[in-house]
Amino acid sequence: LAKGNGKGGWQRYQSDLHTAMMQRLEMRTALYEAIEQEQFVLQFQPIVELIDQKITGVEALVRWQHPVRGLLGPYHFVEAAEESGAIVGIGNWVLREALRQFAQWKTEHLDTTLRYVSVNVSVRQFRAAGFADQVRDALAASGARPEWLLLEITESLVLKDADRVLAELKALREIGVRIAIDDFGTGYSSLSYLRQMPVDVLKLDKSFIDDILHSRQQHALVDAIVTLSHNLDLAVVAEGIEEAGQRAALDAMGCRYGQGYHFAKPLWPGDVPAMAEQYEPYPATDRDETRQTN
Ligand code: C2E
Ligand code: MG
Ligand code: MG
Ligand code: MG
Repeated sequence: LAKGNGKGGWQRYQSDLHTAMMQRLEMRTALYEAIEQEQFVLQFQPIVELIDQKITGVEALVRWQHPVRGLLGPYHFVEAAEESGAIVGIGNWVLREALRQFAQWKTEHLDTTLRYVSVNVSVRQFRAAGFADQVRDALAASGARPEWLLLEITESLVLKDADRVLAELKALREIGVRIAIDDFGTGYSSLSYLRQMPVDVLKLDKSFIDDILHSRQQHALVDAIVTLSHNLDLAVVAEGIEEAGQRAALDAMGCRYGQGYHFAKPLWPGDVPAMAEQYEPYPATDRDETRQTN
């Protein structure tokens, strides 16, 4: 094994390592350039009331309008941005732009059912010095009210360095913004632990929702999480609802909010106000049937 290609293997390894390093450096440079040249854009995905599909909020989702590669989703760059630290600049741009856009909708459509915009916050962005100050500044600059903002953090953030995170979360609470745990169920935190944190909303990960119609265990698990969350005064948003049956099952469990392709894909900003106005409640009969299955 070692005799024939030992040296060549080592050299190949070195050169692969070099290539990977160069690619990381290029990516890093490109990301910082993209911030400067304002190549990031936002789409907004509706979050609805399961009972009548009325839109209550929207989640801001970042995309990179790459000059050569076209429109790129977070899958292509968020990890690299997190590694290189560029996510702090990108995240602060997202925060400011989401609030600016939302404040504009609220002033242009006074009767809108939209109550809040949800913004994803990366671990690194949250841990950067003065995150609460960034939020305060972004609110002031946009004229948005604190209650219009929901910040989505992940379980992994809460599990490490809990004291500092807790202090920062309390500072955010004092400003008046709400906190959601995103992708709940993919990490290792427990509900009772989370309850010790100033958290308002639980977003149940899509992987939990996928099987509820086909697995009794999965259905029972989600049902239990919803009940326990409510007893702990946490609102629940089910993520990744793709079928009418999932909506009905979650509604029957008492889960109040949902998000997913069944209701709407992420939208360009221009399409949001119309979507928020055109909502039509499910027919009453449909709702009654749903209730009876419980
Ligand atoms: P997330 O925060 O859990 O956002 C939900 C993701 O699920 C979005 O993907 C959305 O398009 C997708 N999705 C929603 N409904 C459905 C459905 O019914 N079926 C399927 N298959 N997918 C659905 P997206 O936009 O590609 O974002 C992926 C992840 O990237 C986000 O997951 C979030 O973790 C991260 N991300 C997005 N924007 C930002 C941001 O501004 N900052 C940070 N730090 N992360 C972000
Ligand atoms: Mg999210
Ligand atoms: Mg999520
Ligand atoms: Mg998710």
